[in-house]
Amino acid sequence: MHDTTGPALVLVGGGLQNALIALATLAARPHAQVTVLERDPRPCGNHTWSFHATDVPDALRPVIERVAEHTWPDYDVQFPDGPRRVELGYASVSSEHLADLLTRTLADAPHGALRTDTEVVALDAGGVTLAGGERLPADLVVDARGPGHAPPAARGDQKFYGLELALDAPHGLERPLLMDATIEQVDGFRFIYALPFGPQRLLIEDTVFSTSAELDAGPWRTRVLAEAEARGWSPAQVLREEQGVLPMPWSGPGPAIQTEGPLRGGYHGGWFHPATGYSMPHAMRLATIVARHAEDPGALLGTDDYLRLVRRERKQARFARFLNRLLFTGVAADTRWTVFQRFYRQPESLIARFYACTLTPLDRARMLVGRPPRGFSLRSALSGSAIQ
Ligand SMILES: Cc1cc2nc3c(=O)[nH]c(=O)nc-3n(C[C@H](O)[C@H](O)[C@H](O)COP(=O)(O)OP(=O)(O)OC[C@H]3O[C@@H](n4cnc5c(N)ncnc54)[C@H](O)[C@@H]3O)c2cc1C
Repeated sequence: MHDTTGPALVLVGGGLQNALIALATLAARPHAQVTVLERDPRPCGNHTWSFHATDVPDALRPVIERVAEHTWPDYDVQFPDGPRRVELGYASVSSEHLADLLTRTLADAPHGALRTDTEVVALDAGGVTLAGGERLPADLVVDARGPGHAPPAARGDQKFYGLELALDAPHGLERPLLMDATIEQVDGFRFIYALPFGPQRLLIEDTVFSTSAELDAGPWRTRVLAEAEARGWSPAQVLREEQGVLPMPWSGPGPAIQTEGPLRGGYHGGWFHPATGYSMPHAMRLATIVARHAEDPGALLGTDDYLRLVRRERKQARFARFLNRLLFTGVAADTRWTVFQRFYRQPESLIARFYACTLTPLDRARMLVGRPPRGFSLRSALSGSAIQ
């Protein structure tokens, strides 16, 4: 212990993972000593994070109720074979909302601190060193510096470009449109994603699961605006834009089983879903475990709780990576959509467990049995090289 206030938790990177750890820890133990160090002038970047209600661990529900900015009881998907309503709750949160919540929570906590414009240049189990040379000791350091620090792996990519629009007239969407794959298939599996934030406010994204990580914002913006116009959604104003290239690896491990810190969390530590590119479910589970050990975070890495969780994550990650391998190396780009059309015929409980990355052995069997998707090549999947 370094302080009479109790053990120190130092969180490197003020992004999604550490925001959730800070909020969960302070909810469990309001007097905890929690310091978030963020390189940028503001925490939480520029994203809209979405998740299924069924991703949320029970223990974290009260925290996520404050985090969720928009919630919907169900959503739609649309494929060439037809639409489907999926009766699973869905939610989203903007960076702005999460940053405000994090900033307020840390400011109100007696031993909370958020230090922005603060770059960490060295980390070890006992603390961190800042760019100016200052040393901060810690009982547990969580290193969640984001996707840029993730190890390389053989991978496809989820690329997306989105615009949040204020419209001239109501869009008429009552629920999210999670995947509309009835659009032209270019560069891989391509779909439109739309979240209605208000009667005349909408986020619309063009997404592609591709074997190339290239994303040239100009043409994507044109494409998104054309899709909006085609649906009768005429923009009065572009409120925000966001883009991303998320790894969908088919090799490499999931999170490491660590025996000593710094604990590598978030994208950096492999706490993400290889087959969706999303990290919210994983970040929530890690935050739950850290918060459960808020009295003694320095002992976390030796606990059965942590070991059980990380082993489960690795097992789930292995299967999800295998699915990516089949998708990117076994199915030609222009027929990849058939895999998702088939997936959305599964029961809702399986869809929920797929997104949460908590599939059962029976789920896995259900996903693999039956006629292979159109254009599937076992030889190509076994060779493991991506097909265009
Ligand atoms: C545009 C976009 C949309 C996404 N949408 C979703 C979604 O809907 N649902 C979902 O589950 N996932 C989504 N993801 C994927 C994933 O959840 C995010 O990438 C998520 O932000 C990862 O969380 P993280 O905490 O690991 O990293 P980040 O949120 O990227 O946070 C890392 C932070 O560390 C800081 N940092 C880096 N180096 C240092 C340093 N040396 N010192 C101090 N600070 C440092 C960075 O500035 C950054 O703020 C999205 C990703 C992107 C890019």
